[in-house]
Amino acid sequence: MKQNKKEQFKGRVRDWAEKLEIEIHIIAIRPMKRKWASCSTSGILTFDTNVLDLNPELQDYIVVHELLHFKIPNHGKLWKCLMRAHLGDYEKQEDELKEIFTAWKMAAAQVSNEA
Ligand SMILES: [Zn+2]
Repeated sequence: MKQNKKEQFKGRVRDWAEKLEIEIHIIAIRPMKRKWASCSTSGILTFDTNVLDLNPELQDYIVVHELLHFKIPNHGKLWKCLMRAHLGDYEKQEDELKEIFTAWKMAAAQVSNEA
């Protein structure tokens, strides 16, 4: 089940990468502490395991957000413009994710307090 989710998500990342004409070498999924995803210039994309449980719309936001960083390293005008072009009203997803992410962090802090 978990494996399936992972493969599905990776397929989604590959589809977007093709659409955005970005070459990625490795898609990694593992627990991350401080963020939901990161990318490196060598073509490695890493996603937090929790991302697998998000709804597809929010997954798209994270995927496109990171993929665009291969072209644009910041969140400037051009990045925003491309986000809008591909995702439409992406700020909504961004806000929703911020809330979810805060909840994750709080849950994680609670677990480490109990340990
Ligand atoms: Zn970013």
